[in-house]
Amino acid sequence: MKRIIFTDLDGTFLNHHDYSFNDALEAIAKIEEYGIPLIFTTSKTKSEVERLQEKVGISEPFIVENGASLFIPEDYQGFDLSALANYDDKKVITFGQPYSKVLQFYRTYRAEFGMIGFSDMTDMEVGEAIGLDQYSVLRAKQRNFTEPFLLKDDSKLEELQRLAQGYQLKVTQGGRFYHLMGELQDKGVAVTETIELFENFYHTKVKTIALGDSQNDLEMLERVDVPIVIKKYDGTHLETGLENIQKSSFMGSKGWNEMVLKNV
Ligand SMILES: [Mg+2]
Repeated sequence: MKRIIFTDLDGTFLNHHDYSFNDALEAIAKIEEYGIPLIFTTSKTKSEVERLQEKVGISEPFIVENGASLFIPEDYQGFDLSALANYDDKKVITFGQPYSKVLQFYRTYRAEFGMIGFSDMTDMEVGEAIGLDQYSVLRAKQRNFTEPFLLKDDSKLEELQRLAQGYQLKVTQGGRFYHLMGELQDKGVAVTETIELFENFYHTKVKTIALGDSQNDLEMLERVDVPIVIKKYDGTHLETGLENIQKSSFMGSKGWNEMVLKNV
């Protein structure tokens, strides 16, 4: 049976602290050997994912900014994408709201709620918050759909979420930041659409595997055959409520390596 692997990046494929995937090399080699599509499914931007794909040495479809859009490399496996309704010539299928709409809400309410977003942070501040060098920060700030932000007072989260709903927006929680985005977008929606796409082109069902570590991975984990949570940097696992959930015994890329080798 054909298989697809969806994976979150920060804290899952990449270590939370040093962003390394070195402990995952054995599993990456196996995935390559079996020809399994490895689909990065992340809150990161297109520019960040393209850089990471280069480093890993793969060219696969990928889902960015928390399910806002799916990018597919040109001539990927001979798929004919021209018939897809929401497909454009930049090889992208979009599920999210435009960044301008997200920013408008953020700018209207940032003072009232004590939100500090990427768009208001200097490159240095973003770098310090996420522990990245300046080149990586520039790629992280090239956003098309979502605004990561910090909250001065977490107790205001619920009220902010209610307010966002009235604007067809929502707030989700990632590893370090909250993310403001379109109401109907999440990793689950994008993953479901991607699975359908592959099944249509393959003319057969595929077995789907997903790996994640945080709240914003939950919808993705719910939509696949084999959901896997990676141990977080604080030693806990995300509560999913899923009966068939598998849990890694290691954190980050070492846990990722462990669980991929177990399942492919
Ligand atoms: Mg994560």
